[in-house]
Amino acid sequence: RTDTALYAAKAAGRGRTVLSERRRHGLVDDLVRGLDAGEVHVELQPIIELGSHRAVAVEALARWDHPDLGRVPPLEFVAVAEDGGIIDRLGATVLRLACADAHALQEAWGRRVSLGVNVSGRELVGQDYAARVLAALDAADWPTTQFVLEVTESVVEASDPAALRALATLRASGVRVAIDDFGTGYSSLSRLDELPADFLKLDRQFLTSLPTSTRRTGMVRALLDLCAELGMHVVAEGVETAEQAAMLEELGCHSAQGYHYERPLPVAALAATRWATGGTVPA
Ligand code: C2E
Ligand code: MG
Ligand code: MG
Ligand code: MG
Repeated sequence: RTDTALYAAKAAGRGRTVLSERRRHGLVDDLVRGLDAGEVHVELQPIIELGSHRAVAVEALARWDHPDLGRVPPLEFVAVAEDGGIIDRLGATVLRLACADAHALQEAWGRRVSLGVNVSGRELVGQDYAARVLAALDAADWPTTQFVLEVTESVVEASDPAALRALATLRASGVRVAIDDFGTGYSSLSRLDELPADFLKLDRQFLTSLPTSTRRTGMVRALLDLCAELGMHVVAEGVETAEQAAMLEELGCHSAQGYHYERPLPVAALAATRWATGGTVPA
């Protein structure tokens, strides 16, 4: 039983499970079974274009509802899958579910959205990763031009040739690449122009003192200018307040996502939100 194979502490008040790193591997069998049993699904969080106040894209976020442990955080079970050698299986499942849900959302909303999916470094360097993604998109009848692959800054920083090759192949096929959690790694600004990316997702750390700190505001403004110069769109992550949203609009940030707009939701729930019609940004 997994209950004894790991220690599980419920993170205070959040009903989430935190696993010790040492015992994560005890969950591999559970995850294999859970994938077959349909315990893994995705939630979609809308990405709002600030100029039009419309939800132009969604990010798919993987969810695993473990029968005993409840919802396991994605960073935990992604690590489980990586360590257990089943990251390809997890990734393939998430991709298939995300495409199906995005199709359903488009159907409900009567317009196109683009779909962002996260990929871990370990998965990206896997054998024929790009070919597998392209085949999966084809099988799901999801256009490459409406697909965005989110990779973290650290993955690109590592400059692994296999990773860079996979990204180049995907981009040549119309897939766009987003650098996720930008600002949390150690990327040199002098190499920003070398990033194989179309979007830069500004980590929510950047927003913590926006708009109260003028220095911080200046930094975000400068980064937006720099990205505009390089032809990269900036997506602000973790926007939680109306003040942050207003400041980002004023600074000309291209798009944003966060609890201020909408939490990640199952597709049926998201389909019924105000974003169906473009939506107005809450005051
Ligand atoms: P991420 O890709 O940076 O995703 C954004 C995370 O921030 C999500 O956490 C989302 O629920 C959360 N978030 C969104 N808006 C706000 C906000 O306004 N405030 C705060 N505090 N948080 C917000 P989540 O769903 O727990 O996912 C955590 C990370 O797990 C993701 O970070 C991503 O790196 C990874 N992940 C999720 N799904 C997958 C997947 O299918 N594959 C891989 N490889 N990684 C995934
Ligand atoms: Mg992401
Ligand atoms: Mg992120
Ligand atoms: Mg993040």
